[in-house]
Amino acid sequence: MPDASAQPTTDADRAIPGPLAGYTTLRTGGPAERIVAVGSADELVQAVRTATEPVLILAGGSNVVIGDDGFPGTVVLVRSRGVRVIAEDATSVTVRVDAGEPWDDLVATTVANGWAGLECLSGIPGSTGATPIQNVGAYGQEVAETITGVEVYDRVEGTRQVIPAADCGFAYRGSIFKYMDRWVVLSVDFRLTRSPLSGPVRYAELARALGVEVGDQVPLADARSVVLRLRAGKGMVLDANDPDTRSVGSFFTNPVLDRATYEQLLERSAEVGDPPAWPGADGLVKVSAAWLIDKAGFAKGHPGEGGVAISSKHTLALTNRSGTAHTADLLTLARTIRDQVHARFGVTLHPEPVLINCTL
Ligand SMILES: Cc1cc2nc3c(=O)[nH]c(=O)nc-3n(C[C@H](O)[C@H](O)[C@H](O)COP(=O)(O)OP(=O)(O)OC[C@H]3O[C@@H](n4cnc5c(N)ncnc54)[C@H](O)[C@@H]3O)c2cc1C
Repeated sequence: MPDASAQPTTDADRAIPGPLAGYTTLRTGGPAERIVAVGSADELVQAVRTATEPVLILAGGSNVVIGDDGFPGTVVLVRSRGVRVIAEDATSVTVRVDAGEPWDDLVATTVANGWAGLECLSGIPGSTGATPIQNVGAYGQEVAETITGVEVYDRVEGTRQVIPAADCGFAYRGSIFKYMDRWVVLSVDFRLTRSPLSGPVRYAELARALGVEVGDQVPLADARSVVLRLRAGKGMVLDANDPDTRSVGSFFTNPVLDRATYEQLLERSAEVGDPPAWPGADGLVKVSAAWLIDKAGFAKGHPGEGGVAISSKHTLALTNRSGTAHTADLLTLARTIRDQVHARFGVTLHPEPVLINCTL
């Protein structure tokens, strides 16, 4: 089976037939009409310009759910690699990173070089070019904090341009790029701080595991290794030997509720206690989706039909447990969870991955 991780292009894999399951971390998804791998930004632009429509940009395949019928068009696999320092001064370094650069390789490089800003995002699968798409985040850090600009190919205008971070519409697991075919990410610029220490640790679980208080700073390598350990314990680091990692990570986003809906939730959850919640701007409250799912009656390991199951390590991850499951089975389980959470708590869960040629 082809490797779903971002690899450099070789001539041999420029036009690869076969089911898309092999290019996704879920290991589900039917065939594409055509699959083309590109090894540079120029090749990516050229491939998108000349491809038979529709076009799907696919990199690590770790945040997509592809239907069992596959994709009726051209899939462009992003395999461009490279990390260049484009600006630096006494306190900071700005790196330009090609879209296909494997994300965790980049994080490891920044930690080794004493560049702070990405350390808590260790162990997230996929490519660097996909990180602005949903403003990738974990353990109190988001890429929106360090991205200064995103170089894109605009498919509507047919031009290349850099979109400054302020215009990217970054939000919790979102940006102007998510669910939009218009922009193809070619490279991403990150401004990182020269520091042997991490930024202040914001996530209570991480602070506890590091043996520090929230707000303390720790050596970058310590932050990285503890994040990797915590993630592995939850099946959130890809491991070919661990079926719990045959997933897209979190299947649902944490719902963000207005005050009235949050108050209703508290009334409906009175018997089982208050959900973990994080207050945000404008009176909005983000609530733990994992808690809602658990309290709606779905424990870790809960099986669905056809070889799918909730991860045995994390309530939010839906997995292709058997390795031979179909997307339809996974979506049936997802629907059952969504509907039961809604019936029990009146809160609608939304999927985090991008659904391609399938619906929830
Ligand atoms: C085990 C596991 C743990 C995870 N943990 C986290 C986590 O902690 N935090 C988090 O935020 N996410 C997490 N994820 C989700 C995922 O890893 C990230 O969203 C990642 O950035 C997706 O990268 P990718 O290259 O695999 O994107 P893909 O799955 O290939 O693509 C995702 C979407 O981005 C688009 N896309 C990809 N590349 C480009 C490009 N160059 N230009 C335009 N569009 C593009 C695709 O068309 C698709 O719509 C996890 C996933 C798994 C499997």
